[in-house]
Amino acid sequence: MARVICIANQKGGVGKTTTSVNLASSLAVAEKRVLLVDCDPQGNASSGIGIAKEKAGRHLYHLLIGAAEAPEVVLESRLPFLHVIPAQQDLIGAEVELVSVPGRESVLKKKIGEVSGEYDYILLDCPPSLGLLTVNALTAADSVLIPIQCEYYALEGLSSLLKTIRTVKQRFNSFLTVEGILMTMFDARNNLSSQIVGQVDAHFSKERFQTIIPRNVRLSESPSHGLPVLLYDVNSKGATSYLALAREIMERRAGDAERARVAVP
Ligand code: ATP
Ligand code: MG
Repeated sequence: MARVICIANQKGGVGKTTTSVNLASSLAVAEKRVLLVDCDPQGNASSGIGIAKEKAGRHLYHLLIGAAEAPEVVLESRLPFLHVIPAQQDLIGAEVELVSVPGRESVLKKKIGEVSGEYDYILLDCPPSLGLLTVNALTAADSVLIPIQCEYYALEGLSSLLKTIRTVKQRFNSFLTVEGILMTMFDARNNLSSQIVGQVDAHFSKERFQTIIPRNVRLSESPSHGLPVLLYDVNSKGATSYLALAREIMERRAGDAERARVAVP
């Protein structure tokens, strides 16, 4: 079964989509079978991975409202191990249309459950809100990865996110865990960046990934070419840091599997 990781933070512009696209492609070049699900009506993960609007056809909206089945909305990408369920602006309608559906928080979980056997990792890129789309993603996930930008006010809103995670855990998904906190857009020339990492460590040192994503211009340029950074400039700091993050996640998962194997007599 796939490990489903939800990339969430209701704060805008903290690197959720950059992380979703580049972690998904880094796992895919390690020959892990990956499905990237764009859960944001902005559709940035879809365009960032090179899926043109006209090519998207039916997408996550149609899957959620029951107008399409999962295999019909899964598209291939430039990387052989990476598939994508894209999103477009009309996904915003799903927030409203699902309100009257029984079990509205678990619709995404059911839908991706139909294809999860085909993948090693499923990554869910969330919108910058704690609405029904994010709640669906948290309910569908095994774990949540929280990107935090190395900027002042970065920790603002983290408590509401953690509260939402706790509520989802209590009501819809008791297995939900925190995959980790990822520091993004770190600027080594700026003391503030180190201070923010220090503040996160004061509360969440166990949760913070060792890998820190630097501010890197290649990461901000690559989406406009519809490419993950490792197809745009594989030697850039941005590319190597997302490859390191993928390695950290894979190693941790291998460690979990090993511990589980040892625990079973
Ligand atoms: P939203 O909340 O709108 O969905 P987001 O959390 O998904 O935003 P991104 O779209 O990934 O954030 O990033 C916001 C902006 O910062 C984008 O223009 C992106 O290219 C840029 N960016 C993200 N990470 C980096 C980085 N490490 N270095 C430089 N630019 C970055
Ligand atoms: Mg985004």
